[in-house]
Amino acid sequence: VSRTLVLVKPDGVRRGLSGEILRRIEAKGYTLAAVQLVTPSRELLEEHYAEHQGKPFFEPLVEFMLSGPVLAVVAEGHGVIPGFRSLAGATDPTAAAPGTVRGDLGRDWGLKVTQNLVHGSDSEESAAREIALWFPAA
Ligand code: ATP
Repeated sequence: VSRTLVLVKPDGVRRGLSGEILRRIEAKGYTLAAVQLVTPSRELLEEHYAEHQGKPFFEPLVEFMLSGPVLAVVAEGHGVIPGFRSLAGATDPTAAAPGTVRGDLGRDWGLKVTQNLVHGSDSEESAAREIALWFPAA
């Protein structure tokens, strides 16, 4: 059984979409193994997004992620890593297919950073790394 780290980003929490996003994860048949509302530190976010350091959207991305609480979720099930990425949809919510979280619930707000409601780990390796980061005791 695989595990993935899902984050409901500050835009999702602010807009009251946490429940809807958890609902979609559960409706797909995945299990919620851990759920916690987190106010992340800059250090945690810089570590989480280490692969994007140096990119033009890095600082706006970190600032956006610091703008309010984040719902950190460990979701579990066979195939959950690619499965959640399919549920989330394409990075750009304008391009994301209807039926996905970003396609149904997201849009372009004309900002420097893509506010796209959710994060999902992209591999077994990043899932392990990210779960350890967001749930240090788990
Ligand atoms: P995530 O890792 O959050 O699930 P992703 O894998 O679809 O998203 P990444 O390429 O890993 O996207 O980028 C991480 C996040 O950085 C994106 O979700 C988005 O919020 C932001 N981002 C990525 N590319 C851009 C860009 N060109 N301009 C602005 N923001 C961006």
